[in-house]
Amino acid sequence: MPTTPRWKLPAACLAALVAGALFGWLAGGHVASGVAIVAIAEIVLLLTRDRHPARPIMSPTAAAKHNRLMTRTRRLASSLRDLRRTASQLPDGVVLLDADQRVRWFNHAAENLLGLRSPHDRGAPLGQHLPASELVDWLRQDEREPLHDTVAPGRPDSQISVSLLPFGRHQQVLLARDTSHVTRLEQMRRDFVANVSHELRTPLTVIHGYLELIDPEDAPALAPVLGEMRAQSKRMGQIVEDLLTLSRLETQHRVEDERVPMAPLLATLRKEAEALSQGRHRVAVEADAGLDLLGSPKDLHSALSNLVSNAVRYTPAGGSITIRWQRSEDGATYSVSDTGYGIPASHLARLTERFYRVSSSRSRGSGGTGLGLSIVKHVLNLHQARLSITSEPGRGSTFACHFGPERLLAPANGHDES
Ligand code: ADP
Repeated sequence: MPTTPRWKLPAACLAALVAGALFGWLAGGHVASGVAIVAIAEIVLLLTRDRHPARPIMSPTAAAKHNRLMTRTRRLASSLRDLRRTASQLPDGVVLLDADQRVRWFNHAAENLLGLRSPHDRGAPLGQHLPASELVDWLRQDEREPLHDTVAPGRPDSQISVSLLPFGRHQQVLLARDTSHVTRLEQMRRDFVANVSHELRTPLTVIHGYLELIDPEDAPALAPVLGEMRAQSKRMGQIVEDLLTLSRLETQHRVEDERVPMAPLLATLRKEAEALSQGRHRVAVEADAGLDLLGSPKDLHSALSNLVSNAVRYTPAGGSITIRWQRSEDGATYSVSDTGYGIPASHLARLTERFYRVSSSRSRGSGGTGLGLSIVKHVLNLHQARLSITSEPGRGSTFACHFGPERLLAPANGHDES
């Protein structure tokens, strides 16, 4: 944009004064009056000019361009204001963080849920303002999955789910959602299932007891019906027991840490497999981990034996079952492999859901409740362990439980792995 040279204005003023003096002289020798009039006019002009700072002179095209730019900038600023207003009213907590997790901006919900205060908490690292909690530990991690159902620092009676999303250049947005109502509904569902199971337990025990008392020889015609009634009442009893076990595991957040000697446990699991198989399968144990587990002996036994029982029930006679306890790269793995029916890949992801079965008739026929793998998953979660399943239809399956180093102990004296 062209600018006016600095000398032009004083020169113009001087020229005007000279012209004023000349004009005064010509008009009757009033040189001083001519100069004074021009001087006053110049002062007025200069004052007016300062109040409205000089606008650079632009060509019409440049001016149009400039106007368009100004309109666009105003629109952008207004959209930004609207966006910010909307974000500040969102029901979810939103916190804008810079690359060092310093708080740049947050909305009302974040004040409520995370206990942040404006302007005090702006500019400082987020973790610094939160009380020591699962959330603070989570923020320190480099790679993180969303954190679910953790206590809201600003409202200790509420639960939140938190996630971090990349935003702009090296920034992040933390989203905190109040999940208390979902947690409450979950709790209601758990209580309902636990109460129903508990209420069913006594009548079922009574019915089963009476059925056991009836001697089929007293009513030979009813013998087959009696047998079926006994089997079904036993199955219902087992379903109720499994539901109660699941309810307990779901409400538990941690397990009592006890030594679980693996050598005797593996021997028991082998005996259980042989008893269930009744000679129809070859059962082998390969245990070279030389380690014990740390956790709940009862729950671990229940989970590990569930896998053994499944292997026996879903492997036709003549097949083999191998129980392994081995060290792995990052801990130790307990696995049960069978040469049974196998499972199509499409079912694998859903196997640990309650009552999910690949084949209902096969499961019921083999006395399954449909809850075994659910129990296994919950027990493993409580021990920070993980279940992996590999299977090939018609060739067999391997169910493996991966335990981390924090759950492993060197065997105490007197325990032998073999
Ligand atoms: P169930 O009492 O029906 O066995 P589980 O939860 O233990 O219930 O297992 C869920 C389903 O997974 C079973 O119904 C069965 O279809 C499948 N399954 C589990 N273990 C095996 C296995 N070793 N081989 C083949 N299928 C299996």
